[in-house]
Amino acid sequence: MEKISLTIDGQQVKAKKGMTVLEAVQAAGIYIPTLCHDPDLEPYGACRLCVVEIENVPGLPIACTTLATDGMVVHTETPAVNQVRHNVVELLTADHPSDCLTCPQNQQCELQKVAAYLGITREPFPKTTRVFPVDISNPFFDLDRNRCILCARCTRACNEITGVGAIDLSYRGYETKVTTFGDKLLLESICQSCGECVTHCPTGALAPKESRQPTHEVLTICPYCGVGCQMYLGIRGGQVISVRARSEGSPNRGWLCVKGRYGISEFIHHPERLTTPLVRRNGKLAEATWDEALDLVASKLANYKNDEVAVISSAKCTNEDNYVIQKLARVALGTNNVDHCARLCHAPTVTGLVQSFGSGAMTNSMNEIGDAACILAIGTNTTAAHPVIGFFIKQAVLKGEAKLIVANPRQIDLCRYADIWLRHKPGTDVALLMGMMRVIVDEGLLDSSFIKERCENFDAFKESLNDFDLDFVEGITGVPKEKVVEAARLYATNKPATLLYAMGITQHSHGTDNVLATANLAMLTGNIGKPSTGVNPLRGQSNVQGACDLGALPNVYPGYQAVSDPAIREKFELAWVCPLSAEPGLTLTEIFEAGYRRQIKAIYLVGENPVLSEPCARHAQEALMELDFLVVQDLFMSETARLAHVVLPAASFAEKEGTFTNTERRVQRVRKAIAPLGDSKPDWWIASQIGQRMGNKGFDFTHPSQIMDEIASLTPSYGGISYSRLEDGGLQWPCPTEDHPGTPYLHSQLFARGKGRFMPLKYKPPMELPDDEYPLILTTERSLFHFHTGTITRKVRGLNIFRPEELVEMNPADASALGIADGEMIKVTSRRGEVVAKAKVTEVSPVGVVAMSFHFAESPTNVLTNPALDPVSKIPELKVCAVKVEKAI
Ligand code: SF4
Ligand code: SF4
Repeated sequence: MEKISLTIDGQQVKAKKGMTVLEAVQAAGIYIPTLCHDPDLEPYGACRLCVVEIENVPGLPIACTTLATDGMVVHTETPAVNQVRHNVVELLTADHPSDCLTCPQNQQCELQKVAAYLGITREPFPKTTRVFPVDISNPFFDLDRNRCILCARCTRACNEITGVGAIDLSYRGYETKVTTFGDKLLLESICQSCGECVTHCPTGALAPKESRQPTHEVLTICPYCGVGCQMYLGIRGGQVISVRARSEGSPNRGWLCVKGRYGISEFIHHPERLTTPLVRRNGKLAEATWDEALDLVASKLANYKNDEVAVISSAKCTNEDNYVIQKLARVALGTNNVDHCARLCHAPTVTGLVQSFGSGAMTNSMNEIGDAACILAIGTNTTAAHPVIGFFIKQAVLKGEAKLIVANPRQIDLCRYADIWLRHKPGTDVALLMGMMRVIVDEGLLDSSFIKERCENFDAFKESLNDFDLDFVEGITGVPKEKVVEAARLYATNKPATLLYAMGITQHSHGTDNVLATANLAMLTGNIGKPSTGVNPLRGQSNVQGACDLGALPNVYPGYQAVSDPAIREKFELAWVCPLSAEPGLTLTEIFEAGYRRQIKAIYLVGENPVLSEPCARHAQEALMELDFLVVQDLFMSETARLAHVVLPAASFAEKEGTFTNTERRVQRVRKAIAPLGDSKPDWWIASQIGQRMGNKGFDFTHPSQIMDEIASLTPSYGGISYSRLEDGGLQWPCPTEDHPGTPYLHSQLFARGKGRFMPLKYKPPMELPDDEYPLILTTERSLFHFHTGTITRKVRGLNIFRPEELVEMNPADASALGIADGEMIKVTSRRGEVVAKAKVTEVSPVGVVAMSFHFAESPTNVLTNPALDPVSKIPELKVCAVKVEKAI
């Protein structure tokens, strides 16, 4: 970076070329008071507090918007400068209440600090007579316009960081104020309650409802989605009372979404937390000691043969928890029947990307999205399911630096920002992507040298494109062929291009084919193995990547090492000092099927709620009720825990040490901020106790760091990871040795499998399509305000205010044809069951498609969904099934 020299207050300083005067002054350690300036935001120059004198420049330039130049002579404290600053602050305080002692931001307020710095004690101007009503409608924060100084930091944060644009400065002159569009209350606006505006407000105008200040903070990781945002939990009196995002060195750059910022403390301290073990006696769950419960679990599980027992681990648990849980299955129970909810979300990512690239994980890093010239977001409602990645996408587009292609049957939020929106029919992704690739090949937009040097099987793949002429593609997908051509050109010619996907791609009976199609597209255009390119599956839960990495899967040990490989098996047998089964175990869906058939008789289930999350959920519930013995380990009495013979209370993420691996393969430290609630215990401790009580060695861990050391010794991709290396941030695997810096993007020189493999594909329709009896498609979606089966988020009052119940989104044309009005209760029926919920009539859903979430136990959507499996990954077809809709009587 080129340097320049300046003289600031008589001092010679160096600055980077391109810095503003304010940045140069601050870099030299000199303080200039500011109010509208915010390093996270574009320079604004509104408050005029940062005026300076610059020799040979007329007037008093504003430091935050003036570029520093070589040889510049700057004076930051002159009589003229100080006069302006005094006038500015005196005018601001005239228009501001003088009640600092009762203000929620007292001692935190930047206006207060600036006034103190300038020594302003008098109020020479008459006080304002204007009084605004305080907007207290938002459940998490208040907007008190009486304290607003119109610096626009909140409105700029809402525009520049979140890309939402929910608030702005409206009206003119003395009438200017922060408003929502249409002057609605915050609760009724498009505001997403992310709180970015609140964190950037310098005064008490936007302030959290929780006004207590923490006594100390503990750095940890958000327990919700796979973005893995780093956050400080604020502690006071042994309770988590606040959350603050970490800026430096974090994947989320100081940003959080509503769930992370406001959805944490209430669930941790919720009165319904399980705090003592429960054992079923005379048909009822009754309190027991840990010794009673653990001895019972250990003695009961010991009674079953290895093909009669299964373990379900959890993507909400840490890496260390998952490692011990899968070890318990393999060592103590002698079975590979261990799986977790990745089977229901990203199993095809592993089966597909392993075939194409040799590694089934996100190829690139989140922070590379901002440098992409083109972003293809297919099958991902990113702003709802991975909100902070949604910020990255919107920022790239709003800065004019990236083209955005959205491929989604529903009119999701990202469509507002898209250059092209491809509204394909649900389940037609292969046809859409192969159509785009046909255009790229026909128009010579492919990267021939990359294909020749780095890939194999291209000819067979190219041959398979013959099935996808654009008339066929248009007929299957419903997307006009001109749009397919436009999207193909945009993706192929704007490099680097990155491709993001989520469960819209994977949750299909041909989910693996969908994933293979995304990999083909990236290889065809050379958009892989370089920064800001790649195929990037966005993982759902906080540690779904880690649960897969650590072997909570039926066919692989930690690090995706095959149980069927004799050399690998021998390595684990030596380390774990016991013989291991060579037979891959049952997958999650097969476990429930086997339970229904009474082949599986006992299940140890950690942190999952299959009664709501399994497809054809009634069937899964019946399977669980058939079991001789069900142990459920969780934070709350979930719908599944109610069926258990033993319920073990688990400590939450805030009450234990460990690591999560986020969607971009980044292993990050989870830290204990408070003591476990009641008599709850960390999951790794509980599983270790069961292992020990079943008479096994190798379960005598006393701290999760010991578990990580064992993981590193057996898992090549985690070989260089230890707690000491994770102290200041995270490491992205592969990190094979102690001096390896981690890997931000994969496949740079060679693919993990050597050459990238093109896969020929055919179009396969969803297993169940509409017919006369069931004329509509049901697809599943996510709400920004809830998570998974709602076990945790529904404990948070404010999140429930935003989304209190299930909504069946349906197109106005369908609603009108059925005589259904917005807000009316309707019955949705599939071949497997029926659910009653409220209709939401909206253009978001295309004609012929209804959409529901699965967050609400009262309207269990998965009663309806189709358990038909992708034959390769065994993921069920949660995204498409046929339903009928009628008014509920
Ligand atoms: S909470 Fe977020 S979306 Fe709402 S106004 Fe503030 S920045 Fe905008
Ligand atoms: S984006 Fe995901 S990880 Fe980040 S705060 Fe929101 S839920 Fe938590």
